[in-house]
Amino acid sequence: MGKTFVENPTLTGASFEDLALTPNRVHRAYEYLLKGYQEDPEALLRNALFTCTYDEMVIVKDVEMFSLCEHHMLPFFGKVHVAYIPNGKVIGLSKIPRLIEIFSRRLQIQERLTTQIAETIQKSIEPQGVGVVIEARHLCMMMRGVEKQHSAAVTSSMLGCFRDEQETRTEFLSLIRNRTNGA
Ligand SMILES: [Zn+2]
Repeated sequence: MGKTFVENPTLTGASFEDLALTPNRVHRAYEYLLKGYQEDPEALLRNALFTCTYDEMVIVKDVEMFSLCEHHMLPFFGKVHVAYIPNGKVIGLSKIPRLIEIFSRRLQIQERLTTQIAETIQKSIEPQGVGVVIEARHLCMMMRGVEKQHSAAVTSSMLGCFRDEQETRTEFLSLIRNRTNGA
């Protein structure tokens, strides 16, 4: 492969003035994209637990997620679906997207992101079971490598009754497939 060296950035169409601030912008952007390291997911949930006799499935679906793959530091993004069946305690609903945010704003692989969300919920409220499904597209597969534009990776983590009971798992999977937004 030939080496191209552009001595004068104006030849690329960019000005020195524009580029001079780029390192700072990149620094701030990555600080934001990786801010999940500054937050403690267990502390987030500890402050949002409620005692409750509700014992049917709680589902928070289609939560948008943006993360960076730890191999290429390129984005992967998509939707997260979370469900659990309480066992005396529930989590404030708005905390589930925040939990997803904490783990996704770190260098990740999709498989680990999926497991971390499920296990943190399991640990914090010890529900009857937890299910997490993530559907995502990876820029490291789309812009480079295999250059597949329309492939999505789907991962799931099923704990407790979501692992043991086919019926529970099927109910969860059919509820997340049932799109409410027409997408
Ligand atoms: Zn990658």
